[in-house]
Amino acid sequence: MAAEGDKKKPERPIEQDFVGKTALDCARTILEYERMFKMSETILKFLLDEMKIVRLKCRNNKCGVVIEMPVNDIDKFIIDCQCPSCRQSFRGPKDLGSPDFLEQLSKAFRGLALTNGVAVEFVLPGQLASQK
Ligand SMILES: [Zn+2]
Repeated sequence: MAAEGDKKKPERPIEQDFVGKTALDCARTILEYERMFKMSETILKFLLDEMKIVRLKCRNNKCGVVIEMPVNDIDKFIIDCQCPSCRQSFRGPKDLGSPDFLEQLSKAFRGLALTNGVAVEFVLPGQLASQK
């Protein structure tokens, strides 16, 4: 008798099935996986414009301040890309472009809200959603 949690495992990394495929083909592949592995139908989905508030937590252990703000206005609340409490830098690695990713995130939310060609939807698998 199989223990609970034993599921049919793929014989190779799943990521290989998406290399070089179009988004539509990837979507079809995901549907195929859902049938093959009987993935949970319970998922939590929300649209980008449904996300109103973001919570930032400073990773400086001596600080740990938690700040909530509108997702569209992160760059108005976080000045100079640093913690407003302890002044620890929130900048990311420079090799990925501008290191102020919070500013970029804020601009992305504002820009995508004005973009008609695409709707961005975030999906949490049921297992993750139930852990919240
Ligand atoms: Zn801090």
